[in-house]
Amino acid sequence: MSKLVPPHGGGSLRPLLASAEERADALRRAKRLKKVSLSSREVSDLFMLGMGAYTPLTGFMGHDDWKGAVTEMKLSDGAFWPIPITLSLGRDMAGNLRVGDELALADGETDEILGLVMVREKYTIDRNLECKHVFRTTDPKHPGVEKVLRQGEVNVGGPVLVLSEGDYPVRYKDLYLRPEQSRAEFERRGWKQVAAFQTRNPMHRSHEHLAKIAAEVTDGVFIHQVLGKLKGGDIPAEIRTRAIQAMIDNYFKPNIAIQAGYPIEMRYAGPREALIHALIRQNFGCSHLVVGRDHAGVGSYYGPLDAQHIFDELWDGALLCKPLKIDVTFYCYKCASMATGKTCPHDPEHHLAVSGTRLREMLSQGEKVPAEFSRPEVVAILREYYRSLGKA
Ligand SMILES: [Zn+2]
Repeated sequence: MSKLVPPHGGGSLRPLLASAEERADALRRAKRLKKVSLSSREVSDLFMLGMGAYTPLTGFMGHDDWKGAVTEMKLSDGAFWPIPITLSLGRDMAGNLRVGDELALADGETDEILGLVMVREKYTIDRNLECKHVFRTTDPKHPGVEKVLRQGEVNVGGPVLVLSEGDYPVRYKDLYLRPEQSRAEFERRGWKQVAAFQTRNPMHRSHEHLAKIAAEVTDGVFIHQVLGKLKGGDIPAEIRTRAIQAMIDNYFKPNIAIQAGYPIEMRYAGPREALIHALIRQNFGCSHLVVGRDHAGVGSYYGPLDAQHIFDELWDGALLCKPLKIDVTFYCYKCASMATGKTCPHDPEHHLAVSGTRLREMLSQGEKVPAEFSRPEVVAILREYYRSLGKA
């Protein structure tokens, strides 16, 4: 018996990725089916379903699961679920569909057939209700709200068969781990308690400190990167991965940190997103998730600790992956060490703060980045990247 935390929902992992045989057959069938173009968020959700990261879901949600997830954070069978996972179509397309139809799901950008869905239900939703509960705002300037408001008017629910994971397995060949693979790797290392650390940035000293606090109280830390769509100006995954690996190789004992990535697209839903991040990590085999300040937030829609507090509102047994709530981390010149907002008594003027904008400036203009802020091995990789941008 595995000593790792069990997958969400009480059963085994449910990867929905087709076997090679099923795939060939399904692709032949897909040629005769109506084709739906997926948004990048739907593509990301389909990949998550395929790898089993959304266990126990078997496809896109029907109305009752949608409503339960939105208003009560519960599927219709009572299982905890904090964010709706839905597929939307325009009225024209949906009008011609009948329950029992099968649809081919194509990547909206590449047109590759990624999967099939069996239509069990067609329904319309109150999009404002979804936004109010999930994002705590209906402001169209919020990037997650904006996507919900822009999606098609009709939702289609039903089980999916996933036929492709796009270019992820090839493009991120050392990084792309499915939940059954991460679980196997944890077991191989003899880990029982594993802390996930979510990141979409290169890791500087403050992130390293968070990851090390997590590693101190568990068997190891799973540094888990967002590989889905990023905002313009973000560091590309290839560079970020090298920078993180340089930090691990030079500043972590061997066998205490694993770097991996997964195909989620950020919704920036703050507290609700922290919950789904924990649920997903439970499926990957993690007993804990590091939840720092302003986890998965954007702008000033959420209080800095909202994503930590929301875990206290869950009912017993809702979620087995627990938050490691850690306050903001920084270097403090008075403490002469890394410190956190929880324990360091000194005024912010003694804390080292470098904004993202200022860091980019320092890197691209060859200024020295303080060693208290970022490790020299990490800085060297980022500097080389910004230099290559300058030449391009
Ligand atoms: Zn201090």
